[in-house]
Amino acid sequence: MTVLVINSGSSSIKYQLVNPESGESLCTGLVERIGEEIGHYEHKYNGKVTEATEPIADHGVGLRKVLEFFDTVGPHLAESDIKAVGHRVVQGGKYFDRAALVDDAVQARIKQLCPLAPLHNPANLRGIEVARELLPDVPHVVVFDTAFFQQLPDEAATYALNREIAEKYEIRRYGAHGTSHKFVSETVTKILGRTDLKQIVLHLGNGASASAVVNGRAVDTSMGLTPLEGLVMGTRTGDIDPAVVFHLQREAKMDCESVDRLFNKESGLKGLAGDNDMRMVWKKVDDGERNAIEAIEVYVHRLVHYIGAYTAVMGGLDVVTFTAGAGENDSRLRARVLDRLAPFGVKYDAEKNAVRAKEAREISTADSAVKVYVVPTNEELAIARQAMELIQ
Ligand code: AMP
Repeated sequence: MTVLVINSGSSSIKYQLVNPESGESLCTGLVERIGEEIGHYEHKYNGKVTEATEPIADHGVGLRKVLEFFDTVGPHLAESDIKAVGHRVVQGGKYFDRAALVDDAVQARIKQLCPLAPLHNPANLRGIEVARELLPDVPHVVVFDTAFFQQLPDEAATYALNREIAEKYEIRRYGAHGTSHKFVSETVTKILGRTDLKQIVLHLGNGASASAVVNGRAVDTSMGLTPLEGLVMGTRTGDIDPAVVFHLQREAKMDCESVDRLFNKESGLKGLAGDNDMRMVWKKVDDGERNAIEAIEVYVHRLVHYIGAYTAVMGGLDVVTFTAGAGENDSRLRARVLDRLAPFGVKYDAEKNAVRAKEAREISTADSAVKVYVVPTNEELAIARQAMELIQ
């Protein structure tokens, strides 16, 4: 059995055909630069990459071509025992605390939530619309990035903002990367064979977020109304005094769109060190670049700050887990963070930390006060599994 997982962005569609039982990924692909002069397709199956470069007018054109690839190059969907299509949706607002079967009402809700995720939900919705049209005979399931954090305790989800305004405009902390935080924390729970755990998950990719999870339930997370809040990211500021916005408006005469762009696209590691890719930042550190050295210090400081805060919020800490691009691959970054936790009895094995692997692994020593894991995240598999659970 398989699930086709679709992640539809404003100008791209990523897809993967996944076996939700074995976890095997049978085929992956990418449609890029939709709506631009020249678009690009990449379809990977059986070790072979099929590409095409041509204009892609809209998501419908893109997805139709993808289905052609499945027909001509394989794997044939008709023979893949496809049970569902799983769609990633960024914002589920206060309405969705779990995956949902798509019908017109669910689609209308996702549309209604567009003001809360103006960059993402419209694009997610476009993918759902065209996929339902082109694959009408399979159930479509939406999996929300916010769902895992829908049950955050009120004190963690509520901003100290005027109540009337907050309620009217549905302003609260929704979190993001929830599919990954859920998948990774559940993986650790399975590995350790116990549910009574106080966990911190550090999802450190281009976007980055931390979560605190007690007995399987998220009790805090670093992203807020939008994915802008929290950790230092590839191009996002993370936490910043909101008065910086007023200051820039008054002094630099910047408008809302310019500040939005500055905070979301031109800040973070890119703004501090000139590059959003951690590998490049380290290269600059090795070349002695002061800005890059400082960027790493700010990045690590913010992480340590959250780890401390979440330990206090949870009243203790059993496990810290690193995941996503930098979390999974950057042993140097992990070492920097873990060295700062040494006064609290956190000990890691430098050799184990240096190992690069696709498997989940423990890197703490047997006598460490807190267990430390590296767990590769797999949002596609998580979406496929949630879709299967729902339709079963
Ligand atoms: P993701 O958003 O999870 O795909 O992560 C992408 C980011 O992970 C990149 O922008 C890099 O900053 C980081 N990354 C990926 N591989 C490595 C690596 N080997 N060392 C350090 N950072 C890495």
